[in-house]
Amino acid sequence: MPTPDSRRIVIFDTTLRDGEQSPGASMNLNEKMEAAQALVKLGVDVLEAGFPIASPGDFEAVREIARNVRGTVICGLARCRNEDIDAAWEAVKDAERARIHVFLATSAIHREFKLKMDKEEIIRRAVEGVRRAVGYCPDVEFSPEDAVRTELDFLCRVVEASIDAGATTVNIPDTVGYATPVQMGNVIRVLRQRVPNIDKAVISVHCHNDLGLAVANSLAAVEAGAGQVECTINGIGERAGNCSLEEIVMALRTRHDYFHCQTNIVTQRIVPASRLISSITGIQVQRNKAIVGQNAFAHEAGIHQDGMLKEPRTYEIMRPEDVGLTQSDLVLGKHSGRAALADRAKALGYNLNRQQLDILFQQFKVLADKKKEVYDGDLAALVEQQLQTTPERFALAAYEVTSGTGRAPEVYLRLRRGDEEVETRMSCGDGPVDAVFLAIEQLTGITVHCTDFRVHSVTVGKDAQGEVMVVVEYKGQLYRGRGMSTDSVEASAKAFLNAINRIAAMAPAPSGDQNA
Ligand SMILES: [Zn+2]
Repeated sequence: MPTPDSRRIVIFDTTLRDGEQSPGASMNLNEKMEAAQALVKLGVDVLEAGFPIASPGDFEAVREIARNVRGTVICGLARCRNEDIDAAWEAVKDAERARIHVFLATSAIHREFKLKMDKEEIIRRAVEGVRRAVGYCPDVEFSPEDAVRTELDFLCRVVEASIDAGATTVNIPDTVGYATPVQMGNVIRVLRQRVPNIDKAVISVHCHNDLGLAVANSLAAVEAGAGQVECTINGIGERAGNCSLEEIVMALRTRHDYFHCQTNIVTQRIVPASRLISSITGIQVQRNKAIVGQNAFAHEAGIHQDGMLKEPRTYEIMRPEDVGLTQSDLVLGKHSGRAALADRAKALGYNLNRQQLDILFQQFKVLADKKKEVYDGDLAALVEQQLQTTPERFALAAYEVTSGTGRAPEVYLRLRRGDEEVETRMSCGDGPVDAVFLAIEQLTGITVHCTDFRVHSVTVGKDAQGEVMVVVEYKGQLYRGRGMSTDSVEASAKAFLNAINRIAAMAPAPSGDQNA
């Protein structure tokens, strides 16, 4: 399909930075490393790993990704402040290829109310910020935050000044998801016409989806000459999210005849990457989501099925295998060996080291003894559980609960905290799950507000493992937890403890503005 005259569009993934800002989606270091490996296999050109100044945890994650992940540009975000830019460089400097991404708001409303700076001051700060970053590394991206609501003349001036200062990519964010496609295309066209040094930088776009237009706006920008698109897996991100990577990539590929653009994305890795991010963040993909939703390739209507059987192209503009949708859910059993397991985990998109694989194999054997058939979903759940079990301050040692109609449940709970054990016995709550949650709160001293609680079976059959997802609110922040067991009360207790452990482990929430 791609022809020699195809324009190459740089795919800048910000799943680990903007995506992670989705409420409740914060990831721990192991989860970020796993996601980063999957993004590299997917073929993203630039991986924005985080906002290093935001918190020590963010800094460490960006630094670890920069040190260990090869094959892509690793980018760190910074405001136009010395300490931000210095921290971003410290975090990304060990990368094979590093990029510093500095941003400063330029729209009138941000200038007046947030920054309290006039236009000249904005330009001066932007230039200083870009220069400082260029002093560290040659690959520097500048974003005039809220560019779409910035006066076009002023936007042209800021962009020109930032390129003069050394920015090699200028990113045009629709920070609040306000643009429409024709308008977005026009902004890019105006920049190309009026900014004299525009050829010295790649024009990028970063669109939010508040009006459901993020992908359409990004495509319009590409059509008008943008050479980089910022996007996230499953379109996750602040509020309604960002431009979805899978949608923009498949739109460019499927409509190559129209756009004459190509990307480096290995499209067969799209579905595994989507599943991985969904299971790491706990943000499920809606059934009818384009490209990666459960129904995206399901043809139910009889008249469509008839056409499909005669010739798939009558109704299918993309083939499911092109996005990595495998037809079969391969089944493993207790006699399956280590190699088969390793193979399957790899096919599902996991990049496990030997130690992780050893643990997985042991757990797989235990599970295969309990239930005859082990499905992809079971394996994914085991791996996810392993990835997220970092600092486990409290662990479930034992529990007992009795409940019945018309009386409060009686609960006994014992938790391990390091070398010691703590226990309680109480009569409380209005059901066994509620009672266990209250007992956990009492023993851990962390009281939360539960905002979501979901139970579902990981695979099929009466012996299926139950997975519980909880989302709890603590001091205004959302934390999620996941637990698995063939016993649903135990799975609930584990999920709740997992959320509590996240609260205990997380550094204070990132503060300040990071909405670029
Ligand atoms: Zn954003």
